[in-house]
Amino acid sequence: KDAAELQPLPEPVRGEVEYCNVHFGYTDDKMALHDISLLARPGQMTALVGPTGAGKSTLVNLLPAFYETTRGSITIDGQNIAEVSLESLREHISVVSQEPFLFNGTVGENIAYGNLDASAGQITGAAQAANCFEFIRELTDGFDTHVGERGVRLSVGEKQRISIARALLKDSPILILDEATASVDTATERLIQQALERLMSGRTTFVIAHRLSTIRDADQILVLKNGRVIERGPHDELVRQQGLYARLARIQNTTFIEESFAKLEPAT
Ligand code: ADP
Repeated sequence: KDAAELQPLPEPVRGEVEYCNVHFGYTDDKMALHDISLLARPGQMTALVGPTGAGKSTLVNLLPAFYETTRGSITIDGQNIAEVSLESLREHISVVSQEPFLFNGTVGENIAYGNLDASAGQITGAAQAANCFEFIRELTDGFDTHVGERGVRLSVGEKQRISIARALLKDSPILILDEATASVDTATERLIQQALERLMSGRTTFVIAHRLSTIRDADQILVLKNGRVIERGPHDELVRQQGLYARLARIQNTTFIEESFAKLEPAT
């Protein structure tokens, strides 16, 4: 698109997200998503569940326009994202991924990447809210400690909290969260969960959910299979529907939802 045709999202962005009959294929011969429609109201949490390869990542990756829809449209506050400049679009969306990316630089710089104008006080505040202040303070040079290839090695749980702090500082109305599947100890898990709750609060959140505990709190759950939404609704409603989700939720003793899918549908 001609850059002149692209507009920034009108401020303030409320964060209402709507997918209207979205189809998408990475290649012409195979569609990864079929006829996806969804409405996420400002501040709502939408959980995406489904077996590996169902299309969960593809669905969320269309929102920051990492890919363009093949058919159908996606709007934010009623504005078609195909007509929004990438800069403005991505300014309003934070992505917290499973494998958080840290740059070669200091811990403080890695957090401040979420908002380059942030003051030292704001960076500290974000670190506190993300439950990473304590371990950062214990690093040799605190916030000035170098991380990345030539710096200190951080654990997965530590990296995750730094990426949560980064997103808190960015303070965007829309959040995409790819929940981590890596096992961390129970205490770390609790710190991460609490940090995520603070981050999600008041934002339109799409979570690729792997943990059943997260999903229960979602305003709506979309169950995807082979690129289609096969069930949708809040937890209680889906359990009453006695479909795939209800069968998943009945499987006890699993933390990760993929394990439940695997138990229901052994790989063929
Ligand atoms: P999920 O997140 O539910 O595991 P994905 O969205 O990653 O599923 O994948 C959906 C489908 O799209 C799968 O068939 C997958 O193989 C395919 N796919 C994912 N990423 C790409 C890509 N970059 N190029 C081609 N096909 C892809």
